[in-house]
Amino acid sequence: MMNLCSPTTIRTLMSEAGIRFRKDFGQNFLIDPAVPQRIAQACADDEDTLILEIGPGVGCLTQQLALRYRRVVALEIDAGLIPVLERTVGEFRHVTVYREDVMKADLPALLKQSVPDRQPGIDMTVSVCANLPYYITTPILMRLLTCGINFSAITVMVQKEVADRLTAAPGSRDYGAITAVTGYYGQARKLFTVPAGCFLPAPKVNSAVLRIDLFKQTPFVPKDEGLLFRTIRAAFEMRRKTLVNALAAAFPEMGKEHLGGLVRETGFPEQVRGECLSTADFVRLADLIHDALREN
Ligand code: SAM
Repeated sequence: MMNLCSPTTIRTLMSEAGIRFRKDFGQNFLIDPAVPQRIAQACADDEDTLILEIGPGVGCLTQQLALRYRRVVALEIDAGLIPVLERTVGEFRHVTVYREDVMKADLPALLKQSVPDRQPGIDMTVSVCANLPYYITTPILMRLLTCGINFSAITVMVQKEVADRLTAAPGSRDYGAITAVTGYYGQARKLFTVPAGCFLPAPKVNSAVLRIDLFKQTPFVPKDEGLLFRTIRAAFEMRRKTLVNALAAAFPEMGKEHLGGLVRETGFPEQVRGECLSTADFVRLADLIHDALREN
């Protein structure tokens, strides 16, 4: 089996394929073999899990996934890497590589196509595992959370700052809209940090591996999901403002006094800032806004 974390091997594979590292695709490949092993180990609890990998690169993580799980589906945007992946992971019959942009691909259809006899997410556990391209981390995470596949877990390498943000507690400096939205879908925890020197080329930032365990049964049933996300977005749009002032800008039809009453009814003083509310608090507040809008 090829050592796909060796810088010499990576450079040779790429030069033989006539390709270079593409910064615009966030290509920083892992060169510390312990890291893909740890990520692959941490991303699922059962070898029957169907693994969706985003951005296999030259295949170092794909290889480790293939050794542990029965089915692996990998999506790579860079057409130049597809022949490389055929060389590096083509021997694994249970790995399917698609030339796809994860932001455009029909994810449920691709997964179904690779396991025609099963229903991924229903009678087969599906988990995501990836060393994500950093230029597009948040949109990819949001797409995965909302694409309609019942993922069991999403385990991804992200910038350390993103991992800190997604695992921040309400009221802390790093807590933001993305934290509250992610908290609606599951529980995020940081598994381990990875220094920049573990990548080729080395990025300017440190990284961390994050695992989001999706709720099997959601603890939140908002009256209007769209309104919940609108409320969360509004609360963080103007971070230095109080929650009431931020909401007043987003819901001008309601008036500050009315909104102040709803914030108090949610259990907070009127001067509170949005970052103090947990996902559950936002669900309560959005439900109150929903009722108030209907009464108007
Ligand atoms: N998995 C490899 C590793 O750990 O060494 C490569 C990780 S590299 C940080 C990110 C990979 O995602 C690159 O291979 C890049 O070409 C790919 N990529 C970037 N944008 C993508 C997209 N929109 N859809 C699918 N793959 C993408």
